[in-house]
Formats: sequence, C-alpha cells, structure tokens
Amino acid sequence: MNDQTRFLIAGATLADGRRTDLLVADGLIAETGIGLSATGARRIDADGLIALPGLVDLHTHLREPGFEPSETVLTGTRAAAAGGFTAVFAMANTSPVADTAGVVEQVHRLGQDAGYTYVQPIGAVTVGLEGRHLAELGAMASSRARVRVFSDDGHCVEDPLLMRRALEYVKSFGGVIAQHAQDSRLTVEAQMNEGQVSSDLGLAGWPAVAEESIIARDVLLAEHVGSRVHICHLSTAGSVDVVRWAKARGIAVTAEVTPHHLLLTEELVRSYDPKYKVNPPLRRAEDVEALRLGLADGTIDIVATDHAPHPVEAKDCEWAAAANGMVGLESALAVVQAAVVDTGGLDWADVARVLSAAPATIGGLTGFGHELTAGSAAELTLYDPNDPHEFTEADLAGRSGNSPYLDMRLPGRVRYTFHRGQPTLADGTLREEGLVANG
Ligand SMILES: [Zn+2]
Repeated sequence: MNDQTRFLIAGATLADGRRTDLLVADGLIAETGIGLSATGARRIDADGLIALPGLVDLHTHLREPGFEPSETVLTGTRAAAAGGFTAVFAMANTSPVADTAGVVEQVHRLGQDAGYTYVQPIGAVTVGLEGRHLAELGAMASSRARVRVFSDDGHCVEDPLLMRRALEYVKSFGGVIAQHAQDSRLTVEAQMNEGQVSSDLGLAGWPAVAEESIIARDVLLAEHVGSRVHICHLSTAGSVDVVRWAKARGIAVTAEVTPHHLLLTEELVRSYDPKYKVNPPLRRAEDVEALRLGLADGTIDIVATDHAPHPVEAKDCEWAAAANGMVGLESALAVVQAAVVDTGGLDWADVARVLSAAPATIGGLTGFGHELTAGSAAELTLYDPNDPHEFTEADLAGRSGNSPYLDMRLPGRVRYTFHRGQPTLADGTLREEGLVANG
C-alpha cells in the first residue's frame, strides 16, 4: 500500500444518520454519494460503521521530551490513532518544559516524523510551569509550531495578576489560556474527592471548591479583560454551574470534561487501586450526572482525554504514593458512547462536535473537525458502536498501561482511522510505520 492508494468506503453511516459511500483519494474526500464506484480503489465495507470526522484531542500528555519511559510522541500518537484521533494537542509539562519556541518546534517536528496524527504543541503559560514569570507566548505563537493554546496543566496558574496578563497577551493573536483549575492551598496532600467516601477511607479530601473557586475567578478575569479562557477537565456539579452562569453572562469561556469523569465515580477508590487515582479526582455520582447534563446542554463544549501515561512503578504501589493520571486515548470514544450516547444524552452528531469540531475550533486548528463532504481533507474515523467487548491490554497502543477500563466491558471499537487520506488504523490494526510527511 503506498500513499497514493485510493479507498472506497462503502455504506458508512454519517454522524447525522445518512448513509453514504466515501471515495478517498489524494488526501481528500473526493466524492460522496450512494453507489459510488472507483476502479482500482481499495474497498472498505463500512456497513454498520459510523463515519466521524477524525477525532481531535485538546488535552494529551505525550511526555516527550523528558519522560520517554512513560510515552513518546511516536507511541502516544499510535495510541491516538488506535482511538480514532487524527490530531492531538500536546501538553507542555515535559522536561524541558514547552515554554520556548525551540521546544514547541521540537515537539511539532517529532509529530510530523512519527506520522500517525497531527501534533499541535501547547505552550506553557509560565516559565518552567513555576507560576512566576510569563513564558515567551508571542515567540511560541509565531514559531513554526504556531501555538494558540497555552496551559500550565498539571499546575494551576494561581497568581491572578499573571493570569490576567496571560489572558491579555494572547488576545492579540487569537490565543486561549487553558486553565487547570486547582487551588493548591485547598488541596494540600489531597488524595481523593472530599466527602463521605474520603471520611470512610481516612484519605485527605480534595474539595470541589478548590476547582470551582478558580473557575469563578478566571471567568471573571476573562470578562474583565475581554479575552477567552478554556477550563480543563471539569469534575464537579458546581463547576458546571459556574460555567453555565458565565456563558449566560456572555463570557467567552469554553470547558472540557474527560471520558473518565463522565463514567467513573469516587466509589471505585474504595478498592484502593491506584488506577483510579487522577487529578482532578473521581467525584460523586451526582457530579457525573451534572457533567453529562452539562455536556448535553452545551455548557461543556468538548470531551478531552487528559491521556496521562505513567510507568508501572508509578502506579504499582500504595494509593498515597501513586501518581495521578490515566491513559485514555484508545478508550475515549467507547467510553463516551457508554456514558452519554447509550444513556440518551448525546447523538452521534453531538459526538462529532464535542470530540472533533469544537476542540479544533477552540484550539485554532484548521483542516480538522469539518463535516465529511466532497473536497474536504480525508481526516476521519470509522467506528463500530455494536461491538461490545472486554477492554484489555491488547487494546492499548501506547507505552503505558494505566487504564482504568482494563477488564471493563465497552460497547464499541474504532475500526479505521484515516489521516491525510491514508489509514493509520485499518480494520483495527495500526499501520506499521507512520505516514511520511510531505512538506
Ligand atoms: Zn490538568
């Protein structure tokens, strides 16, 4: 198979429910319609498969440079392709931190060399993620990596004056600050959601207000300076309320939720299994319900994975010593189906919006997230929503295995991922080598 191979995807169901064939040629969707024929094209029987615009993740930790035992750009983008993603935004908490044009250009280039998805680096807001001095936001924006999203994720930008300056700075080039909302004073030594379960288990609590108070401050700051703010991984009902209030007031805020916060609750922590330890922590069932409703009514704009790989030793230990984080790229679409599609909150057009179109728009990424129409770039995912199976290590394609879904039943599988007109995942199997970058 060379990169000129053409594909006739036959009988796919689009997100809006219409059935169509899709002819993929020269990196584009060349033609759509019923009963297409194309001599020499490789035929893919897509009966029963949903064709979605290639998924876009606004929140991925690829760990390179610096933490290659956990993940690399290559292994992380292989995990992304396995999960139906065609573009990922790489968080800045690497070593060195992505706080200069040099580092973001390095990550961008590593993504092109790997060839599994587009990799859009996120730049740090502050030098070294230390929260003291603004990083070179302008230099990163005008670099070859063309950074538009800035985040200290893993850390909160706590200084309100620095946050204000960052919000003001990115206005000039249409950038956005993505805030990891966590008041560190309120979460000293916190181990899990603060409430009845943390009392039962004797673990230090992580109160909802530590998240909600930062979000409230930041939406007001964004209003004050007339800028745009994005809130990472909402996890509480109160956070949904604050964002809903801010949007009603006309504030330019967008928000994300992770698949795990849409499906899992703090009750799992009773197992003391560190695979359930994550930042922000798993919350109450009431919070999960509020997050689902917030996603359904548009208060929450997108689903983002917060894919956070860790080596075995960081998780194979007692709860208090374990690292926060879960891998999530490979399972995201099936978990979203289980949490919000099969429960009736979202339809597939909504899924296309929250996992592709909206994250591309928020991140200022062109060429992704568009509807699958003739003439558009062939970035697409074919998903089988009727393939219930036990999720196992064989379903993981990255370097780390810290998934909370191992041995759980998930309702569907990604069958094909097309990036730049060629399959990075074909009939459930990853392409051996990535696509060669052309220019
Ligand atoms: Zn975070």
